[in-house]
Amino acid sequence: MNLQERMQAVEERIAAAAERSGRQREDISVIAVTKYVSLAAAEEALLLGLEHLGENRWQHAEQKWRALSGDEERQGKKPVWHFIGSLQTNKVKEVVGRFRYIHSLDRLSLAEAIHKQASRLGIVVPCFIQVNVSGESSKHGMNPEDVHEFIQCLGDYPAVKPIGLMTMAPFESEPEQTREVFRSLRRLRDEIAVRHGEGCGIRHLSMGMSNDFEIAIEEGATWIRLGTILMGKEEE
Ligand SMILES: *Cc1c(COP(=O)(O)O)cnc(C)c1O
Repeated sequence: MNLQERMQAVEERIAAAAERSGRQREDISVIAVTKYVSLAAAEEALLLGLEHLGENRWQHAEQKWRALSGDEERQGKKPVWHFIGSLQTNKVKEVVGRFRYIHSLDRLSLAEAIHKQASRLGIVVPCFIQVNVSGESSKHGMNPEDVHEFIQCLGDYPAVKPIGLMTMAPFESEPEQTREVFRSLRRLRDEIAVRHGEGCGIRHLSMGMSNDFEIAIEEGATWIRLGTILMGKEEE
């Protein structure tokens, strides 16, 4: 399958999952994760209308970012970049200002670093708080029970704007087994709205990858992050 055919196949599955769960297709946005593919493939995705591109490391993203976003003279549409990988504090300077969204806010020291850099640039960075719902030690993210206090502390860093929660489910050969993880993240979001008020703005759910995006949609995902199934995987 070429990219256009993969897009079509994925689109049908997204629409069906939305329909099954009584949701509107427009309430679900796709991030094309380009970390396994070349600049040419990322550029093709953009040309075919995939506007949101995701990368998990600045070192891997840099060449694509510079080619697609660095050159002011470049004709055509520019991507909206999402930083989806765990973010080291010393990489914040590279990421803030280049990526519109950060999906991996998981500690106060990172919020402080993002706030400082964003303030210097005069911008506000929409962020997802990454939560380790499954409790797997290999997964990044905060414990669910620490999120409420964390949100309160974020008040000290107004250039960091929390807009949602993000999680990664463990890989399961039977994707149905991830449902409880996604459901817990949705419940946590709903609890936040009650405790902190709808006004706190945390309403998005960034969850679902190639293996489990349909379950994530059924459980309320508003952003799904698709690498392999959409972009394919190129040999190194
Ligand atoms: C790589 C990656 C994805 C996409 O993975 P696929 O399984 O290839 O769809 C999504 N989210 C994060 C955080 C990633 O690092």
